[in-house]
This record gives sequence, C-alpha cells and structure tokens, in this order.
Amino acid sequence: MFCPKCKRLMRPDTAARRWRCSACGATVPLGAAREIGRSDPAQREVAVVDGKSSTLPTAAETCPKCGNGEAYWVLRQTRGADEPETRIFECTKCGHKWREYQ
Ligand SMILES: [Zn+2]
Ligand SMILES: [Zn+2]
Repeated sequence: MFCPKCKRLMRPDTAARRWRCSACGATVPLGAAREIGRSDPAQREVAVVDGKSSTLPTAAETCPKCGNGEAYWVLRQTRGADEPETRIFECTKCGHKWREYQ
C-alpha cells in the first residue's frame, strides 16, 4: 500500500484499522487498500471498453473504421512473460477498438 499523497510505503495500523504514512501522516482505511491497489490487466481493459473517460491518454492514431485521427489508448500486459505490452486503441469518435501491431 502506497501513500496516495506522497507515494511512499504506508504501514498498517491494525489497532486503528487503517494504513498510516510515516512520511506525511496520511491515513487510509484498511479496507480501501484493495480498490486503490493494483488492478489486474483484464480489469483495465474493461475500464477502456466501458469508459468514455476523458482521463485516458489519447494518441494521433487513425481509426481503421471511420478514419478519425485521434484514439484513446491503454497498455495491456499480455500473460506471457516474454511478450511485450500491447497498446489497445479506441477511436474517440466511433468507439472502434483495435490493438497496435508491432
Ligand atoms: Zn505520505
Ligand atoms: Zn472511428
């Protein structure tokens, strides 16, 4: 669990049921760690599929379907350890999704 404020390692304070940052003093409830912590790649992909989130980075990629010149993208880690990460693009206009070929 890392501090949401200063990104340092937090220590669990089990008596108070919370994480405490020894650097800046921030606290987080113990139960919240699971949601804030790392999400698995499958969930990240779902987030892209579902979300028309403006927080996603965009790239100047041409949509193969409608020709729009901008797409959201997210890195997807493949399960094979030897395989590189793959970028998944989603057209900002028509929502078409495709993966980057390397
Ligand atoms: Zn902190
Ligand atoms: Zn498109």
